[in-house]
Amino acid sequence: MSSLALLGGRPVRERPFASWPVFDDTERTALNQVLESGIWGGYSPAVRQFETAFAKQHDCRFGVSTCNGTLSLEAALHALGIGANDEVIVPPITFVATATAVLRIGAVPVFADIDPRSYNLDPARVEECITKRTRAVIPVHFGGHPADMDALIPIAHHHNLAVLEDCAHAHGASWKGRKVGSFGDVSSFSFQQSKNLTAGEGGILVTNNEDLAAKSWTFANQGRVAGGAWYQHDFLGTNLRLTGLQAAVLNAQLTRLPEHLERRARNADFLISRLRGGVAAPPVIDPRVTTHGFHLFLLRLDTQQLNGVSRDQFVKALQAEGIPGVSWYPYPIYRNKLFTSTGRRWPACAEAERMCQECFWLSNEILLADTADLEDVVRAVEKVVTASAELLEHAH
Ligand SMILES: *Cc1c(COP(=O)(O)O)cnc(C)c1O
Repeated sequence: MSSLALLGGRPVRERPFASWPVFDDTERTALNQVLESGIWGGYSPAVRQFETAFAKQHDCRFGVSTCNGTLSLEAALHALGIGANDEVIVPPITFVATATAVLRIGAVPVFADIDPRSYNLDPARVEECITKRTRAVIPVHFGGHPADMDALIPIAHHHNLAVLEDCAHAHGASWKGRKVGSFGDVSSFSFQQSKNLTAGEGGILVTNNEDLAAKSWTFANQGRVAGGAWYQHDFLGTNLRLTGLQAAVLNAQLTRLPEHLERRARNADFLISRLRGGVAAPPVIDPRVTTHGFHLFLLRLDTQQLNGVSRDQFVKALQAEGIPGVSWYPYPIYRNKLFTSTGRRWPACAEAERMCQECFWLSNEILLADTADLEDVVRAVEKVVTASAELLEHAH
């Protein structure tokens, strides 16, 4: 009988890692205050407080909260004046919303391939995708690793493109000492359940551009204008408001972010030092990254050394050992039916395709565990690598 848990052996770990989301009396007190204030909706002072604090923490002057990170991307594109027939460059490896926000405002997403070291948009590939119709680029700081802003910002300026940073994985991350979210014209964050800062759902746009802040706020508040009357609607907008109750939770979560980022970094350092050079390669961090957001701990399998075991088989065996690894995406975004059924041709991105065969991640909460618990991750990875031949036999 095999020692692999998937084949009936004893798992490396039987207890869960740290739980998520994290809360205590800070959240309870903040929620109570909003409850008792009687103002539960989007015009609660807790919302203004959160917008101001979050924007400041990300080196931005303005924050406009929204009900989620998908609609904040749409609001940002709207504020940038992007619409029908425009092209917007996006990565093929990200949550689908980065690309669908572009479709929803009537523009066309153009997929530029990723850099296999950082898993972020490759600036050289971005440049190749620029046409007369290109209006913007949306870098995603994937997994929390900031995209190469040194290269992307000059390319965007040279071609007169707007930069919308999708920071859904990168709360508190920084590149050369400057916070992500402050490089682009306007930037979007998500506070969905799985994100490093969460209220279950929620989002925010941050910017240093007063005009974009005003346009975003107007769009998110049914066309109202700052200082205007309640029933005065100068523009077409919608309601994207975050509630006071969500803001209460986020204000509390924000006090915890610096400590969480430190803990994630310590644990990531540990895993990187223990896994480096192995069959499951840990992330390579660009030296210009001053703070990594560490939303996802990305690993890449050297499948050549796994006797033909696939990424999905490997991850399944790892999960059976008690390590909640996640196979990354089955294929790049443009191979979803939503895109293939449009009749349009979506050129393949070779690196993205390859990563979808080789990569997996450890999710958010694992990096908040005690470092000693992470020994189990290393042990389980080594165990599955060593037993890969058995795994293959089992699969046939
Ligand atoms: C989560 C996520 C979004 C969307 O955020 P929601 O708040 O879930 O709508 C957008 N982009 C990326 C990269 C994400 O991970």
